[in-house]
Amino acid sequence: MIDILSLNLDELKQELAQFGEPAYRAKQIYEWLHIRKISDFDEITNISKQLREKLREKFCIKSLNMQKRLVSSIDDTVKYLYMLDDGNCIETVFMSHNHGNSLCISSQVGCRMGCRFCMSAQCGFVRNLTPSEMLLQIYRAEKEINSVVVMGIGEPLDNFDNVKKFLEILPMSLRHVSLSTCGLADEIDELAKLKLGLTLSISLHATNDKDRTAIMPINARYNLERLLSSCANYFTITRRRISYEYALIDGVNDTEENAYELAKLLKKLPKGSYHVNIIPINPVGANCVRPPDTKQIKTFSTVLERENINVTVRRTLGADINAACGQLRRGELCSPDKKEL
Ligand code: SAH
Repeated sequence: MIDILSLNLDELKQELAQFGEPAYRAKQIYEWLHIRKISDFDEITNISKQLREKLREKFCIKSLNMQKRLVSSIDDTVKYLYMLDDGNCIETVFMSHNHGNSLCISSQVGCRMGCRFCMSAQCGFVRNLTPSEMLLQIYRAEKEINSVVVMGIGEPLDNFDNVKKFLEILPMSLRHVSLSTCGLADEIDELAKLKLGLTLSISLHATNDKDRTAIMPINARYNLERLLSSCANYFTITRRRISYEYALIDGVNDTEENAYELAKLLKKLPKGSYHVNIIPINPVGANCVRPPDTKQIKTFSTVLERENINVTVRRTLGADINAACGQLRRGELCSPDKKEL
C-alpha cells in the first residue's frame, strides 16, 4: 500500500496516470487530502465510485490514534500522545498564544542526538517519521493551527528528505513554520540552498566547545565555529533571522561569564541575523539538571541586553503536563501506570 499523504503533487499525478487519470484529477484528490484533510476515500464526492475503489486498493490514508490528551491547568497548553499505525508513539503539543494557535510536532520516533538534558535522547532512536505522519499531527489537530514548530521529539535535520517533503506538501506559508535543530551543519547548508521562508532555531545551550560537547555530542561532529559559519551562510542566503535557543542549566552554562561569552560569539555573526531565547531548563528524568534561580536568570539576560543582544526569556508552557520534549512518551514507555491529569 502506498502512503498517499506522503506523495507530493507530481508523484500523485504519476501514480494516477497509471490508472489513465488526467493530471487535473490528481490535483482534485490532492486538495481533498491536504486542504479538506479527509481521512477516508469515501469522503471524495466528485470522483466515481470505481476510482474510489481503485484508490483504496493501491493507497492508504494513514491515521493517528490519540492515546492521551493532557490539558494544562496553568495555561491552555494541550499535549497529545499519538499512536502511529505501527504501534509507535509520538507527542504533539498545542499552544495558544496572543497571536494565534501553534503546534509543536515531532519529526522522529526517538532521537539519536544524545543531548544530555533531553528526555527524548534517553529513550534512544526507533525510526524516522514519514511526511504523512508529520502532516497528520497538524491535520488532526482539534483547533485551527496558525503556526507550526518542528521542535517536538526527534532531530528534524536527521530526517532531512522526509522533512523537506513535509514542508513541500504542507498547505501553509512557511513563514509560519519554525524548525529547530541541535546543529547539523551540513544539513543547515542544504536547507539554505532550498531558500524556504521558514525560521531556523538553533539549540545552542553553551558558549564554548568544551561545555557544548559535554552536553551535546553533536558538537564533536560540528563544532561551534563550523555551526555558526553555516548559520551565517543560512542568513546570507535566506535573510531570515535565526533564533538561538539557550536553556539555562544550573552550574553548567549559567554564569555571567557565559553570558559575555555568548554575546561575543553572536556578535561575530551578521548584524540582525540573531535573536536569543532563554529557557530555564526543564528538569527531566534522573539526569539531575536544574534551572538556575530567577535572580541568576535575570543576571544572565541583563548581560545580554547590555551587550545589545536581542533576547527573550521564555516562560515554560504546560509545566504540569510534562510538555517538555519527550517527557510524555518516556512516561508511557517507562511507567505505564503513571497518573493521568
Ligand atoms: N532536535 C531538535 C528539536 C527537538 S528538541 C533540537 O535539538 O533543536 C526541542 C528543543 O527543546 C531544543 O532546543 C532542545 O534543546 C530543548 N530541550 C530538550 N530538553 C529540554 C529540557 N529538559 N528543558 C528545556 N529544553 C529542552
